[in-house]
Amino acid sequence: MSATYKAIQVTKPGEFATVMKPLVDPGPGQVRIRIEASGVCHSDAGTVEGSFPIIWPRVPGHEVVGRIDALGSGVQGWVVGQRVGVGFLGGFCGYCEFCRNGDLVNCRNQEFTGIHSDGGYAEVMIARATGLVRIPDDLSSVDAAPLLCAGLTTFNALRNSPAKAGDLVAVLGIGGLGHLAVQYARHMGFEVAAIARGSNTAELAKKLGAHHYIDSAATDPAAALQALGGAKVILVTASGGKTITETFKGLRPGGVSINLGAGPEPIEVASVDLIFGERKLAGSLTGNPATADATLRFSALGGVSAMIETAQLDEAPAAYAKMMAGKARFRMVLVTKNGNGQPK
Ligand SMILES: [Zn+2]
Ligand SMILES: [Zn+2]
Repeated sequence: MSATYKAIQVTKPGEFATVMKPLVDPGPGQVRIRIEASGVCHSDAGTVEGSFPIIWPRVPGHEVVGRIDALGSGVQGWVVGQRVGVGFLGGFCGYCEFCRNGDLVNCRNQEFTGIHSDGGYAEVMIARATGLVRIPDDLSSVDAAPLLCAGLTTFNALRNSPAKAGDLVAVLGIGGLGHLAVQYARHMGFEVAAIARGSNTAELAKKLGAHHYIDSAATDPAAALQALGGAKVILVTASGGKTITETFKGLRPGGVSINLGAGPEPIEVASVDLIFGERKLAGSLTGNPATADATLRFSALGGVSAMIETAQLDEAPAAYAKMMAGKARFRMVLVTKNGNGQPK
């Protein structure tokens, strides 16, 4: 086995470099993973552009699938050779107040993969065992990768929302997250309205399972949702405060607008629109590891999958640029020489 591995790291904001790094042993509670596939997510911009506090250099990427090739001391429940996933949340501590309350997502001592620690734009990574996700044998590594952030984020938000089967659920934005959210919403039994700008996306949205398509460039999306009875949930997968503002009044009383698209723009909502109708504005952060397991199983059982373009690891900078330009249809996944996770 080679004593070095290839990684695409960011050396300073906006600058990628291909490097060979020495192989290191996993520390206590950690595993070492031979990476097979790694999704490219919009949140990678937080690392690449340096909008998160980054200690340079840093390897981005938090939709990682690979095979464990070494276990650190004290790791239980995982074995060498097992195929695993790593998402944005890099593993909980187990002893902070939030962990002890069962709220693993909000652990106070959790690193973000590819931000505080090196992530998936590489052939190898070290990960905390508490953050690992099980990969079903019937999902390839490439197919599983985008489900670890884009999939989990949308699945978790819908699963924990107040919507019940038959309720109207709107998905705002049909991109990397939105095209998965529409499929999950349909498979969970909701009446699904997809909202995007322009008529080009209408056919795709219907194919993904949307019952209704609302062109927000041609019509007032809030009024269109009210004409359908009002949404119990609006899942906002696009970033930008204005998009939330212009759809918020499309909620029925007791409805919630759940924001998944991170951005610096403030969100303006009139207090009367919150109070009358008792509507809620919320955020949701990926999900815990057991929900990630469920996301992958649900996806495999229901045939939910991301539309994927693959690129070789060496092409990471170009793949990242394509994603940032909004030209990826819909998820870029980097592949390495380590294979595509065919079941052993
Ligand atoms: Zn992500
Ligand atoms: Zn904790």
